[in-house]
Amino acid sequence: MHEYSITCSILNILNKVAKENKIKKIKKVNFEISSIAHIEPDSVEFYYRFLTKDNNILKSAKLKFKKKKIQIKCEDCKEISDIEDFFISGCPKCSGRNIKFINDDEIKIISVEK
Ligand SMILES: [Zn+2]
Repeated sequence: MHEYSITCSILNILNKVAKENKIKKIKKVNFEISSIAHIEPDSVEFYYRFLTKDNNILKSAKLKFKKKKIQIKCEDCKEISDIEDFFISGCPKCSGRNIKFINDDEIKIISVEK
């Protein structure tokens, strides 16, 4: 139920944004999902529909998800690289194995369109 609690916190933010900006209806919400996060956009969408069915401000919004690349930092050469694949054997620059994943938000609201 990972996505359920994530969706709840997203809704809290959106409700707050709508209230603060006096938005009557949100048309679209753009998200960015970190590739290391195990978040299924379909599940977020599912819970979103379920939780907003009585919320006139949020219920008809389109949700758009964009995957964000994984960033790693090499502790040997200090190079920061974007990688496509989670399973890498070492730093793309020096092949060092002393690499760290850069922590990032699992899911982030990029923009809201009204
Ligand atoms: Zn390196």
